[in-house]
Amino acid sequence: MTSLKTTVIAIDGPAASGKTSVGKIIAEKLNFNFLDTGIMYRAITYAALDSSVDFKQKTTVSEFIDNLNLQIIFDDSRDLKITFNDIDISKSLHSIEIDQNVSYYSSFKEIRDYLVEQQREIASYDNTVMVGRDIGSVVVPDSLKIFLTASISERAKRRHKELVDSGVSAELNEIESELERRDELDTKRKESPLVIASDATIVVSDGMMLEGVVSFILNNILARKL
Ligand code: C5P
Repeated sequence: MTSLKTTVIAIDGPAASGKTSVGKIIAEKLNFNFLDTGIMYRAITYAALDSSVDFKQKTTVSEFIDNLNLQIIFDDSRDLKITFNDIDISKSLHSIEIDQNVSYYSSFKEIRDYLVEQQREIASYDNTVMVGRDIGSVVVPDSLKIFLTASISERAKRRHKELVDSGVSAELNEIESELERRDELDTKRKESPLVIASDATIVVSDGMMLEGVVSFILNNILARKL
């Protein structure tokens, strides 16, 4: 991979560690594009579930990708818009069904290669804050790397509050088990597992408010590097 002319800030970390909220604000403040790569894996999962494909045979995964009618584009307000078979699915990607299946589909090399190519292309157009699991380790190794994490109980509490605030009833202990299950799959998979890149700065956000995490990253980490 040739080195980029744009600047990429990679924010990797486990599920519900606040990467998206933090990354979006940092992108706004720096006037960078924002790309949540988790949404791309969620979109593939949506398409696979919709098509009821059986991925037990390797050829099926490649065929599925070859025939996939998925479009991932930025709209005029720099928000990511995803269409599947020409229908906008951007708002349908955080269902429980997708949460439960996304780590399975994300583990296939063919799927990762397909998405990583698009992620690198997006990063080459403009300065970008990119959040995910493997951005610093695989997608853009010459990025500025943050590894954002928090304890499992803190992450579960935050996700629980988000759901309750949006009118969805949810059990805290079930959310915690689901996050743990997903982290385990994402950490132990063979292809691009969730790892802390050797030159990443680790931020543990327990007890910090969103604004505090943002200003800590901007003032203490990025100010020295940008
Ligand atoms: O970040 P989010 O929780 O939306 O990601 C959903 C899932 O997508 C993760 O649990 C992981 O399986 C997958 N993912 C990935 N690599 C990325 C981003 C997300 O494997 N860069």
